[in-house]
Amino acid sequence: MTETAANAGPLPFDNSYARLPEHFFARLPPTPVEAPRLIRLNRGLAETLGLDAAFLASPAGTEILAGNRIPDGAEPIAMAYAGHQFGGWVPQLGDGRAILIGEVVGRDGIRRDIHLKGAGRTPFSRNGDGRAALGPVLREYIVSEAMHALGLPTTRALAAIATGEPVIRERYLPGAVLVRVAESHVRVGTFQYFTARGDTEAVKRLADYVIARHYPQAAASDDPYAALLDAVVGRQARLVAGWLLVGFIHGVMNTDNMSVAGETIDYGPCAFMDFYHPHTVYSSIDHMGRYAYGNQPPIAQWNLAQLGQCLLPIMSGTEAEALKRAQAIIDGFANRFETELTAGLQRKLGLDTAKAGDLALGQDLLKRMAENEADFTLTFRGLADVIDPEGGTDGDPRNLFNKPGDFDDWVGFWRARLEEEARSPQELAAALRAANPMFIPRNHQVEAVIRAAEDRDDFAPFEKLLKVLARPFDDQPENRRCALPPRPDEVVHQTFCGT
Ligand code: AMP
Ligand code: MG
Repeated sequence: MTETAANAGPLPFDNSYARLPEHFFARLPPTPVEAPRLIRLNRGLAETLGLDAAFLASPAGTEILAGNRIPDGAEPIAMAYAGHQFGGWVPQLGDGRAILIGEVVGRDGIRRDIHLKGAGRTPFSRNGDGRAALGPVLREYIVSEAMHALGLPTTRALAAIATGEPVIRERYLPGAVLVRVAESHVRVGTFQYFTARGDTEAVKRLADYVIARHYPQAAASDDPYAALLDAVVGRQARLVAGWLLVGFIHGVMNTDNMSVAGETIDYGPCAFMDFYHPHTVYSSIDHMGRYAYGNQPPIAQWNLAQLGQCLLPIMSGTEAEALKRAQAIIDGFANRFETELTAGLQRKLGLDTAKAGDLALGQDLLKRMAENEADFTLTFRGLADVIDPEGGTDGDPRNLFNKPGDFDDWVGFWRARLEEEARSPQELAAALRAANPMFIPRNHQVEAVIRAAEDRDDFAPFEKLLKVLARPFDDQPENRRCALPPRPDEVVHQTFCGT
């Protein structure tokens, strides 16, 4: 993909998706909002993108981020896509409240979409109002930036803007726009949209686009579309393993919410677990637990099988050959996921070498955590203190277990395994602290931030939490409170899409 900026304005756009066939999207500008007010600009991200943060934070910049002014070079579009929502097929979804205003190529050479979420109605809005409420916008800002700081691929938040307009949900809420940045917004559901219409030519155009933008090495393969599927499967296996290793539950892993670029996308009723249990579900709309923490790997595989279906007609060879190849790639997900999970657990347990029993050792700890309602994040973080009690402020994890002896027994097995390693206790403790975060965006804290913003127009807690979560692996003794699980009266049992 050529990396030339189409114009030299404050946002040097070069819009590759808008050059695809017209039936891939609808062209329309965002709907202006009444009184845009910048809540927060992500200056670090603006810098990465090569954008002028001072301009973006100015009134003229805020007008652009709110969708009230279309900058030079922007080609605003709402993308078409379909999807399986909770397993049920929906032939047309699309950007119902989001507008892709353009793409920029950052200082790092990576092309990214600048996308306004909550930008008004589009031809894909169905019954929705096209808007977003402040709470979910702050939630997505916090959780996506935390995910980035934890080292996982994710869409990011460039800005949050209050619109000065109410949105009607169960009650009146303040409205907002989130400026979301992504390596692209092509979803599994984007492929499905064309497949469902029998538009194989469009599937091929889209696949070629995705290869050029995200998987250029696939172009050199004998069977580029099989190579594409293989590469997407690889990235998803790694991503979902990464989620499990930080205790993240996406909450709505519909095929329209799965990015083919392998980023975490569409933060709705997502949540990080406090105490560990594989059946954990927070989403108010996930009655069957389809997207529970522990179901995420098979669901990802199911979604990828839908992508495989879409790519079959354009893969090389006979239909039977293509099917066999696609099936093998999809079947391979389980192994690739397990490999990623094992490597991640080895890091979390401070193991420098790989041994056959390591996955079982990690799973044994998880099982004991589930039986003892032990906090996921603090248990792993506390492992460093077991090794190096003088070195940290993390606290002894045995106290997180209802029956501390269950943890002690496991530590015996872990120590025996560590005997096979050459690291000094200090090296080991440092490795453990680098692999196990102290801070995650806990639901009760995110809720408290939203309450302050919604009820009192107070964004200080939002700023504070973002600052803490930007350094999740640092001890930050002064912010110890932010590391703690909720008190019984603070527990958040359910999360909502807020759409
Ligand atoms: P989500 O659950 O956020 O992944 O959204 C599913 C679909 O509903 C997508 O097509 C969204 O664009 C659409 N949607 C969600 N909220 C709204 C809204 N307030 N107005 C219009 N469309 C919406
Ligand atoms: Mg979505």
